[in-house]
Amino acid sequence: MLFTDVIRTKRDGGELSDEQIQFFVDGLADGSLPIEQVASLAMATCLNSMTFDEAAKLTLAMSESGTVLDWSDLGLDGPVVDKHSTGGVGDKVSFLLAPIAAACGCFVPMISGRGLGHTGGTTDKAEAIPGYNTAPDFETFRKVVKSVGCAVIGQTADLAPADRRLYAIRDVTATVESVPLITSSILSKKIAAGLDALVMDVKTGSGAFMPSHERAIQLSESIIATAARAELKTNVVITDMNEVLGTTAGNALEIEESMAYLRDDYRDSRLDEVVLALCAEMLLATGLDDDLNNALARCDKAVTSGQAAERFDEMCVALGGPAGFVANSAKHLVQAPVTRAVFASGFLAEVNVRAVGNAIIELGGGRHMVGEELDLSVGLSEVARIGTLLDSETPLAIIHAASDDAAAMAEQLLLKACTTSDEAPKIGPVIHEKLTGDS
Ligand code: URA
Repeated sequence: MLFTDVIRTKRDGGELSDEQIQFFVDGLADGSLPIEQVASLAMATCLNSMTFDEAAKLTLAMSESGTVLDWSDLGLDGPVVDKHSTGGVGDKVSFLLAPIAAACGCFVPMISGRGLGHTGGTTDKAEAIPGYNTAPDFETFRKVVKSVGCAVIGQTADLAPADRRLYAIRDVTATVESVPLITSSILSKKIAAGLDALVMDVKTGSGAFMPSHERAIQLSESIIATAARAELKTNVVITDMNEVLGTTAGNALEIEESMAYLRDDYRDSRLDEVVLALCAEMLLATGLDDDLNNALARCDKAVTSGQAAERFDEMCVALGGPAGFVANSAKHLVQAPVTRAVFASGFLAEVNVRAVGNAIIELGGGRHMVGEELDLSVGLSEVARIGTLLDSETPLAIIHAASDDAAAMAEQLLLKACTTSDEAPKIGPVIHEKLTGDS
């Protein structure tokens, strides 16, 4: 088979056959397809989409392109469940949700991704913790999940390797925004992870890959239906990405905010709402609870009692990180040499979150090219919420940069990304909708 014929089929709006999809996935997994051919098919798919059958076939083929995990021999006394987000800016939910869910009786083998397009990646953020191994062998991963209840790691070479390669190429070729490609990317990893249930955080808004509510619903329905075909029960929560989630964006800075949350020192209310809603959904999806308010209260208690912090510390040590990290995180995290407060005046009315994510890439916190090294110290802190009255004492954000020039450049990008007004704007909800799948 010629791969140019596969590209041509999709370029001309046709439907790929099962054999063509399998040929694509095999060529991704064994590295025989060159980047330019993969990128061409990804772009043709972005433009012409796929039928539900094509997307489901791609998902299953990618999930079988490497190891498929099985937890049944471990004698776990709780469900194996995970959460995955379609990606945003400032989205540090995984570091909070995984230990909270573990403290509530779940087993969470969280295989996360690196930064994608303008969005940050959990794996990159985890690597800001000195010594923390995001690529343990499967035996270690299984051991940590069993003993701690959660392990947040990166995509390994053996699990859905076809997606790993496609993901890295989509990241730098503006080919992320496609319902079938996002569906197959996320679900191939989650099916290969051998989960009992999955909760999806589908983002909508200016910083989401699916900015409009209609597109977010389309993606949610695609994910639920495709997961059902693989008998993976999946519930979706559609959450807001019209502003940075929490007060930080950037790898080490987000880890610091996450540890402040786990210490129960400071919990940004929007971030808190998203974390608790997703975590409660995990308890409901797995039958660990049948009442939403009760599930929310259990998740909250896992934070206030310090149990979630304990789980995080245990996971961190088990994966090679420092002991007592939650309490002493600031001591361990890299800090950028330059900080600069950005000021504006008026109510913060609107944020182009994609542009904020791109500013972080320009600072060195995200990638322009496949495999690029990141500066984990850079980003934003004290990010103002929409509705904040900005003045000479209340900044839009603090920029953390490698140099004065980089900070000045980021300041311009940030000011351009934000709109202020004389009148207080209407504040929208952070949780938009929930969709429940059956299987
Ligand atoms: N997360 C993924 O794992 N893949 C995508 O394509 C988008 C978000």
